Amino acid sequence: VVQNGSGYNFTKTTCGFCGVGCHVIVESKANTIVNIVGDDKGPNEGHLCVKGRFAWEFVNSIERIKKPLIREKITDDFKETTLEEALDFVAWKFKNIKEKYSKYALAALASSRCTNEEVFLVQKLARCAFENNNIDNCARVCHMPTGFALGLAFGTGAGTADIESLKKAECIMVVGSNTTHAHPVVGSLIRQLAISGKKLIVINPRGIDLAKQPHIKALHLQPYPGTNVALLNSIAHVIVKENLYDKDFIENKCDIDSFKLWLDFILSDEYNPTNVSKIAGVDSHLIEKAAREFATSKKATIVYGLGVTEHTFGSSGVFCLTNLAMLCGFIGKEGCGVSPLRGQNNVQGASDMGAFPNVFTFYRHISDEQTRKTFESVWKKTLDTNVGFTIPQMFKAAIDGRLKGMYIVGEDVFQTDPNTYHIKEALSSLEFLVVQELFLSPTTQFAHVVLPGSSYLEKNGTFTNWERRVSKVNKVIEPLSGIDEYKIITELSKKLGYPMDYNSEEEIFNEIALLSPQFSTLTYEKLQNYGSLLWPVDSKNQTGTRILHTDEFLNKKGKFFITNYVANQLPNDTYPFILTTGRNLFHYNSSNQTRKTKNVAFYDADYLEINEKDAIKLNISNNDLVEVKSESAKITLKAKVTDKIKPGVLFTTFHFTQPKTNALLSQNTDWATDTPEYKFMLVNIKKTDKE
Ligand code: SF4
Repeated sequence: VVQNGSGYNFTKTTCGFCGVGCHVIVESKANTIVNIVGDDKGPNEGHLCVKGRFAWEFVNSIERIKKPLIREKITDDFKETTLEEALDFVAWKFKNIKEKYSKYALAALASSRCTNEEVFLVQKLARCAFENNNIDNCARVCHMPTGFALGLAFGTGAGTADIESLKKAECIMVVGSNTTHAHPVVGSLIRQLAISGKKLIVINPRGIDLAKQPHIKALHLQPYPGTNVALLNSIAHVIVKENLYDKDFIENKCDIDSFKLWLDFILSDEYNPTNVSKIAGVDSHLIEKAAREFATSKKATIVYGLGVTEHTFGSSGVFCLTNLAMLCGFIGKEGCGVSPLRGQNNVQGASDMGAFPNVFTFYRHISDEQTRKTFESVWKKTLDTNVGFTIPQMFKAAIDGRLKGMYIVGEDVFQTDPNTYHIKEALSSLEFLVVQELFLSPTTQFAHVVLPGSSYLEKNGTFTNWERRVSKVNKVIEPLSGIDEYKIITELSKKLGYPMDYNSEEEIFNEIALLSPQFSTLTYEKLQNYGSLLWPVDSKNQTGTRILHTDEFLNKKGKFFITNYVANQLPNDTYPFILTTGRNLFHYNSSNQTRKTKNVAFYDADYLEINEKDAIKLNISNNDLVEVKSESAKITLKAKVTDKIKPGVLFTTFHFTQPKTNALLSQNTDWATDTPEYKFMLVNIKKTDKE
């Protein structure tokens, strides 16, 4: 923190919106934010987007929850209370549930909006105070297929290279990501790189900015939603058929048996461009061109987003990318890699911190005896060995009566999770719900106790971004609730009978480092000195690791995986349209924060994008009200007629509380990880007069 003599403080910290993790300098006075600018010494080189730069007024909003709120029944009104009284009540209710039912009747949800230190504490509370593994975090509903597939293919569930490496690529393939809106600072960089002459391949069902801007010569492949796997398999098919792959790399660095099996699979005629063209709706010549541009580049990198992961075959989609990168030898070198663009600010970190029902920090399975014993000796607690519930399993268990109490930290599940009416039934079925939040939200209407959360500008700790970059988060103003958020978690744990004593966030971080090989030599002091570092930071890599898998893959040999394409249900007479969803530049997820800023003036509602040919057929014009109906629900949206999407496809965002776009979704999830299918639903539409 630097003071300028007039009472203004300037604090360096990390943006708390998206997974790019831009470094910022925040000006404050008298516990109020005054301005935010980019830190030109950070990896973002001073650049910020409209969220990080301007959307900070929510912090001092009068709607912030500053005191705990409590009520006996959800039909009662909340009353304000002290933290002591609220936590006594919560501990009493949770203990009661444990005694009356079982220890498995309790569950906790950590949030990717929280710091690594807070997430670590929430999973520790679940494992040591609830005494089970019913702990998950919102990576489940976005990038879980990434952790799963990258972990199995390469040996660790994280992106392989940093932003500097991206700049050195000759070709960039962007798959399932509207980068300039969802990760704007990376999106702008890709746009500049494309303008400067790098090859750019965009695979996206929409004509996003990166694909359509006239001064960018992007090769745009515009598949129907849900056909990624067929399309990516076809690109690989062409590369193999035309002998454009890197045999040396495969022989020296990959698991040959898995490659041979995969080779037989990928050469199947099913994946020749002519066949796939009919499935994906992409011209076969474009598939061939993309394959040649990618494979003949000296260095190429793949960045991807939720358009790959949020499908019933999301994990297969990520495996397609790992297969492609290994096929061409584009791993473990500068200018190459496979990089997941993580959604929220700390999705990577929340995943690394072990907020999952089956693993401890850094993806070590709870059944691994040695790891479990290490945790038991540091935590002085015998730990449960049963794998806990994932988020979708928690909701099912609440409905069928196995789950009775939940502690949700920083998640608005009713607004953001799929199939809203199913979530409503689950939350209403709980005997006791505690939500820790900044604002009242659609989820808090089901809560018995609401505890006051803190924004990223009111806390110390660390975030880990899409690159694996660990950056310091520094407190700019004191928490509006008067208490550090991590202390709410430790106080609750104490009242539940498992005391956690830390004098600072740094002590929590040191415990994470003690228990995690990837952080073994990482300290706050090092982060202070270097600004940020990419894990692993260990005895071999004292200043971090920009590029993974350089000498060999972390699992020794990179593995190829078979990625069968399985068709979604096809549009039919009842539901003739495919609806897909995404984000807009001005808002952040449920927009509970950005809606309380001036950003709302630029994007004030969710719209339904409809192709102009479909609009003519259905007599729909801009701003007409359109009823959208799926098997799960119906909602009304205003129309936006566009040529950005193909006939038969619709697009909308899900930022606003009304209408509830996510209510339209089914309960379909990824075959391997339970990540919901946000990106594909069959619907029908008609013009209507009713809101
Ligand atoms: Fe914040 Fe992401 Fe925008 Fe950077 S790109 S300023 S991290 S929201």
